[in-house]
Amino acid sequence: MRKARLWNVFMASASAISLAACSGPGTNETTTTPETTTAAETTTAAAETTEEAKEAEGPVTYDAKGSGYGGELNLKVTIDGDTITDLELGEHHETNVVMDRAFPVIRQRILDSNTPVVDSVTAATFSSYAVKAAVADAMTQAGLEVEDITMATAGPAKEAKTLDDVTADIVVVGGGPSGLAAAITAKQTNKDLNVIVIEKMDILSGNGKFDMNFYDLINSQAQKEAGNEKWTVDQVENFIEAKSTAGDSEERVKVWAEQENVLDAWLRDMGVNLDYNYGAMNHMAKEDQYAGEVIQAGMEECAKDLGIEIRTGTKGVDLIMEEGRCVGVNVENNAKESYAIKAQHTIIATGGFCSSKELLKEYAPGYEVFNTSNQMGTTGDFVKVFEENGFKMEHMDNVRLFPNIIVPRRDLTGGADLSILVNKEGSRFISENAGGLELGNAIQAQTDGAVFSITDKTGYDSFYRIRKHVGLGYYSQGETLDQPGRGIGHRRRRS
Ligand SMILES: Cc1cc2nc3c(=O)[nH]c(=O)nc-3n(C[C@H](O)[C@H](O)[C@H](O)COP(=O)(O)OP(=O)(O)OC[C@H]3O[C@@H](n4cnc5c(N)ncnc54)[C@H](O)[C@@H]3O)c2cc1C
Repeated sequence: MRKARLWNVFMASASAISLAACSGPGTNETTTTPETTTAAETTTAAAETTEEAKEAEGPVTYDAKGSGYGGELNLKVTIDGDTITDLELGEHHETNVVMDRAFPVIRQRILDSNTPVVDSVTAATFSSYAVKAAVADAMTQAGLEVEDITMATAGPAKEAKTLDDVTADIVVVGGGPSGLAAAITAKQTNKDLNVIVIEKMDILSGNGKFDMNFYDLINSQAQKEAGNEKWTVDQVENFIEAKSTAGDSEERVKVWAEQENVLDAWLRDMGVNLDYNYGAMNHMAKEDQYAGEVIQAGMEECAKDLGIEIRTGTKGVDLIMEEGRCVGVNVENNAKESYAIKAQHTIIATGGFCSSKELLKEYAPGYEVFNTSNQMGTTGDFVKVFEENGFKMEHMDNVRLFPNIIVPRRDLTGGADLSILVNKEGSRFISENAGGLELGNAIQAQTDGAVFSITDKTGYDSFYRIRKHVGLGYYSQGETLDQPGRGIGHRRRRS
């Protein structure tokens, strides 16, 4: 009897496309359109319940649906008469680290205005759209009038206003990992300091909340506990050597090498335990939990506990300079209010500029052709401000490019111990050992600038990221080589 050989092949969904992953926002927010579920489309389905609902006294909870970045989103919407009194999130396929932060914001906006016709949460526009469409669906079921919800639906236009100056000891511009870490450290050093963090998006944590699956540490507690001697005690020199070719300055690599154990302890003090050490220096929170998600959640909690004032939806637009010294920052918020935050110290932690094609073209030519995995806030807002004020800027052309991003999502993929890349014609086109710009450009040159990443059970077992992406349905799976290809071919693509 012939034994069937199980291949277990996994193929990245619409697959890999080249992208620059410096530190910044994701452009995919503006490149795909989810299927529209408008209130009008749901009217027929809802008709049966409408009369019943109209007659009901007191609050009624409706099961409503919207369509977001990841597909169908379910929402329980409670309506009392003509008032929306509660929204409860049900099953959805949005990116959790985004939805966890965005849902409370959009929920509050809808409850406060008693309508889904409100501004979307920046950095979560598709998810916001899904929630708004679901509320409109529920209102239709309740026999209430509501306008069609589209991606462009927004709250009433605001009038520009100028507010009085605000003062602080320290103002931090940017609520990503760097900004939060700076604010927390300042407050831990002196709890009496008045520290304000402004973040232009409506949610915090910049790129940090996304695919930060690993965190490079040496002399960490996890390494010591795992008996990972290669990188423990007095291995600073090894680390410096390993990192010296990565493009960082010698000074930064040295601080990195010497202070990592301090950082590990600092994170542990705030309840962030990077307990899973793999591949010498890499750390995750757990075997199946990315480091970034846990670090960012921990820092946001810690910032709140320390009483750091966080102003989201507030963009730093310019430095306030007096006699060559920076004395604060001019800001504008999403209510169109402008004001100055005057401070003893101003920290700019606005990340990179990979979401600005213009800046890439100017400072790192060649990279502007790629999609970015960065979140949408990374537009280098202060680059020109620094230039105008004669500030020194270094390493502006040092862009880190991860060539594999799953389209139409923004997630980096690959990294399995065994994987191949094939183009849409089914041919390999480059050695998989290639990386960076070389691989990015090669992918870009293939049909539609997209290729497929194929791995097998060995690759699947070798790296949590692949297992996570398979679990999320980003990969098509089969037991023979042609099965996953068919799965992808039949998958509906959003345009
Ligand atoms: C896809 C991806 C995967 C990654 N994976 C890893 C990993 O596995 N391990 C790892 O160590 N690192 C990883 N990184 C890198 C890591 O995410 C970044 O180094 C880190 O996020 C940089 O932090 P930051 O605070 O400097 O910048 P950011 O995270 O970019 O945060 C900057 C913040 O400033 C805000 N901002 C910008 N302009 C303004 C303005 N004018 N006013 C107010 N706010 C503003 C932005 O909206 C943003 O919230 C990854 C990055 C990406 C994109």
